[in-house]
Amino acid sequence: MKNDVKNILFTEEKIKEKVIELGKRITEDYKGKDTIVIGVLKGANIFLSDLIRRIEIPITVDFIDVSSYGLSTESSGVVKINKDLDFSIENKDIIIVEDIIDTGLTLKYLLENLKSRKPKSIKICTFLDKPDRRKVDIKIDYLGFKIPDEFIVGYGIDYAEKYRNLPFIASLKKEAYQK
Ligand code: 5GP
Repeated sequence: MKNDVKNILFTEEKIKEKVIELGKRITEDYKGKDTIVIGVLKGANIFLSDLIRRIEIPITVDFIDVSSYGLSTESSGVVKINKDLDFSIENKDIIIVEDIIDTGLTLKYLLENLKSRKPKSIKICTFLDKPDRRKVDIKIDYLGFKIPDEFIVGYGIDYAEKYRNLPFIASLKKEAYQK
């Protein structure tokens, strides 16, 4: 699998440092609040698992699984909820945890959907941000790293359901896409 990697953008060490930093900020900002951290499946799974262990206050964790209809490398903004939240978010302080924000269309839909459930507040935490490809305005409250317009995998993020288990963020060699 590692033979398919072209370039490592963020090493395990770099990721760990960033996750600790984000966990500290969230710990400070959410003291005394009734917080639900929502992981967007499947891509945010590994980031969320690391992040919540760096949050040192009581929180509830929930998951939502959405898929976007569209071309394989770009979302259309038409989103299907495959698995909804288990808990009500009414009057709760919500943090949405995403793997990567690209066009922003998936998150825009998700935000509108979750806002209609009347949470007290909603903030966005994303591990990666590709601002060059944004189609809608999204305010990111907690960001891991900005990346250029390059297709990446690893640390939970897949290409055709593979490479999620790479412990770092990487781009792939051309040959990997032809497999
Ligand atoms: P958006 O609606 O913001 O365009 O789409 C975000 C979703 O597209 C992410 O959650 C992710 O699943 C997928 N995505 C965007 N950029 C990349 C990328 O560079 N690599 C991979 N593997 N998926 C990406």
